[in-house]
Amino acid sequence: MPNPKRRHSKARSAKRRTHYKAVSPSVSTCSNCGEIKLQHRACPNCGAYKGRTMFVPKSA
Ligand SMILES: [Zn+2]
Repeated sequence: MPNPKRRHSKARSAKRRTHYKAVSPSVSTCSNCGEIKLQHRACPNCGAYKGRTMFVPKSA
């Protein structure tokens, strides 16, 4: 099996990883209760998704 002859320096690895960026999650508001929720996920506040109730949230 071919192997690398020398290890990369920390700077070389760091330069490659400059392209790795954290992305902020896309959020939207719930059409049922108006709370902020993640897109394509059921609302954590009321459990609604696509006009239907997916689960009944635990009352605080
Ligand atoms: Zn909701």
